[in-house]
Amino acid sequence: MIMCMRIADIQENIDHELISHDEIMAKIEEVAVQASKDYEGRVPLVIAVLKGAVNTLTAFTQAMSCPLEMDFMSISSYGKSMSSTGTITIRQDLSADVKGRDVLIVEDIVDSGYTLNWLVQELKDRGAASVEIFALLEKPARHVVDVDVKYKGFEIPDEFVVGFGLDCDEQYRNLDCIAVLKPEVYEGALTQ
Ligand code: 5GP
Ligand code: MG
Ligand code: MG
Repeated sequence: MIMCMRIADIQENIDHELISHDEIMAKIEEVAVQASKDYEGRVPLVIAVLKGAVNTLTAFTQAMSCPLEMDFMSISSYGKSMSSTGTITIRQDLSADVKGRDVLIVEDIVDSGYTLNWLVQELKDRGAASVEIFALLEKPARHVVDVDVKYKGFEIPDEFVVGFGLDCDEQYRNLDCIAVLKPEVYEGALTQ
């Protein structure tokens, strides 16, 4: 059996599991099959927004059957707080030139939509030939700006989730599923 952190390992901090590991993997594979068809004959530049999207990017690209390139970008809209400010800054830029490229952004979650809205515009301004999005999670109730997400994972309720890349104060990224923490856990982390 592959070792990893499961709900049972941190039961005391978890309120409930929202999406199981198997459900996540099945969905990512389904999206990868579709995206592989859509990008046939092209070499997409698959971009992960660090750090939350790394787990999804890894599973997704391993399931893609077309040639591709990967790159990473770190942008901050969040810090320790629980809602986007709308002010985005680049912490670490891409190494690739996106001019003329078919870019596929992989994101962990679309919450207000500010981050992705900004990133899509930024990549278009840099001359990308096309920009599409795969978001593992979406919180429709919290959308402030519209973002056109071509490849959708799961719609979730307005709850603060962790796991499969998503953190609370940098922890829980290695949890194998998506879960909701007990309020006292994330409230404690965010007021530190
Ligand atoms: P947006 O700009 O769409 O409001 O925020 C997107 C970013 O906020 C995500 O990439 C993620 O880093 C963070 N975020 C939004 N909702 C959650 C959540 O429920 N849990 C965690 N861990 N991060 C979240
Ligand atoms: Mg993110
Ligand atoms: Mg975070």
